[in-house]
Amino acid sequence: MQYDVIVIGSGPGGYVAAIRCAQLGLKTALIEKYSTFGGTCLNVGCIPSKALLDSSEHYYNATHTFAEHGIDVKEVKVNLAQMIKRKNEVVEQTTAGITFLMKKNKVDTYQGLGSFKDKNTVKIALTKGGEQEITGKNVIIATGSKPTALPFLKTDGKRIITSTEALNMTEVPKHLILIGGGVIGLELGSVYARLGAEVTVVEYADAIIPTMDRTLSKELQKSLTKIGVKFLLSHKVTGAEVKGKKVTVTADSPKGEKVVLEGDYCLVAVGRVAYTDGLGLENIGITVEERGRKITVDGHLETSVKGIYAIGDVIKGAMLAHKAEEEGTFVAEVIAGQKPHINYNLIPGVVYTWPEVAAVGYTEEQLKETGKKYKVGSFPFKASGRARASMDTDGLVKVLADADTDEILGVHMIGPRCADMIAEAVVAMEFRASAEDIGRISHAHPTFTESFKEAALAATANRAIHI
Ligand code: FAD
Ligand code: NAD
Repeated sequence: MQYDVIVIGSGPGGYVAAIRCAQLGLKTALIEKYSTFGGTCLNVGCIPSKALLDSSEHYYNATHTFAEHGIDVKEVKVNLAQMIKRKNEVVEQTTAGITFLMKKNKVDTYQGLGSFKDKNTVKIALTKGGEQEITGKNVIIATGSKPTALPFLKTDGKRIITSTEALNMTEVPKHLILIGGGVIGLELGSVYARLGAEVTVVEYADAIIPTMDRTLSKELQKSLTKIGVKFLLSHKVTGAEVKGKKVTVTADSPKGEKVVLEGDYCLVAVGRVAYTDGLGLENIGITVEERGRKITVDGHLETSVKGIYAIGDVIKGAMLAHKAEEEGTFVAEVIAGQKPHINYNLIPGVVYTWPEVAAVGYTEEQLKETGKKYKVGSFPFKASGRARASMDTDGLVKVLADADTDEILGVHMIGPRCADMIAEAVVAMEFRASAEDIGRISHAHPTFTESFKEAALAATANRAIHI
């Protein structure tokens, strides 16, 4: 078969690229080695983790906040098997949706491992057996990422696990030891802390979510401490050992003391590396970076080989589904001869804990580093009527604006529904709004979004109304 475009990998990068190529009239093929489409995100990432986060949040509220709301419930119990079953159903429905979209857009799909024979020929080791070769004028590599392993600490998939196993537990851990206080650790740690597990986070850096604005790290740590999560920051993990049902994790404290933790499960969540195994990159002369194993691309997301592009987790930048999706659309449009654009600075980042954490643009630490003069305005949710009504008063919104022009440079939020609220900040920044613009726009009352307006007013001229 001869195609205009062959896409390898069906995650949010690959399937979006395939749909956009088809929309642009390009004859397109999509190859996926797993039995379902959707990649990490739909199968073992974004969607299943959010399903468990929502279920565990309901349980937590039933056992911790319902009584204050005046709702008495008796004998609330966790049915983990049902929780996982519902999560699996959500995944099945979502991945089936991609199968439907491929048919609707007339994208030819192949189930099997794709590898380069030469720059225009992709060999598929078909899942059903046998081999097939297809050719394409262009190829998009969208093969994603896999969890990073620590060289001195082997995961066994049973007691020392990655996020994939943590999404399919058969029991609530008694004590879950988390290595890594990043996004995966804190989201999945929240799930099991809410369900009653003791959770200890061992983090190498001196703050959790260390790449986000430090205000968010501090506030999130305070909120998660309230649900019982313990933190060992600036701790260097040195090893882990499994004996029967017990896992012993050792670490060095900042003072150089040896710390020993005993638990029944240990989740390793120290980042992800690009996935290019079995792709045959050596056959076409594409090399990967030593650190992170990422494929190098130019401004058009084209690799060192003409006509071969790469997108999503397998290339530089944030490992986020919506970043991969933007790149999928971008590359399809480049191939079709258009001139698309992505503003990487305005890709929002969200952590789906409760309170939710969301951010876009520069952090205060980054602005200090560049020496740019900026103003800060913040507004705490405890001053929001809507937040008091829903008993979600933890957190704040912080707006960073240019000291001279008032243009918004960064927005950092932690609080109720911030994952959705950040969209307003992204739109504002795409249109290069000033803090005063946001302060002068009507926001419905009572909503959580008023807190963004108030923080913008605070940044404009210290003129927030409700604090
Ligand atoms: P992937 O989704 O990894 O897809 C790559 C696909 O390529 C896979 O299906 C793989 O099987 C296939 N493949 C690989 N090699 C071959 C080959 N040779 N032949 C055929 N097929 C191949 N991001 C967010 O934005 N929001 C979230 O809430 C979020 N939550 C997450 C939660 C967890 C637990 C994890 C692990 C990740 C989460 N992420 C989240 C990150 C997100 O999943 C990734 O950024 C995203 O999936 C990357 O998309 P991709 O298309 O680049 O690759
Ligand atoms: P991460 O980069 O978010 O966090 C890893 C953490 O582990 C960091 O805080 C790091 O300092 C720490 N760490 C590294 N080595 C360590 C060691 N030896 N000992 C202790 N701590 C160590 O990575 P992750 O949580 O594994 O997530 C992987 C990727 O998946 C992220 O890039 C993220 O973008 C993506 N993801 C996104 C979402 C979301 O958007 N809500 C959710 C889950 C995952």
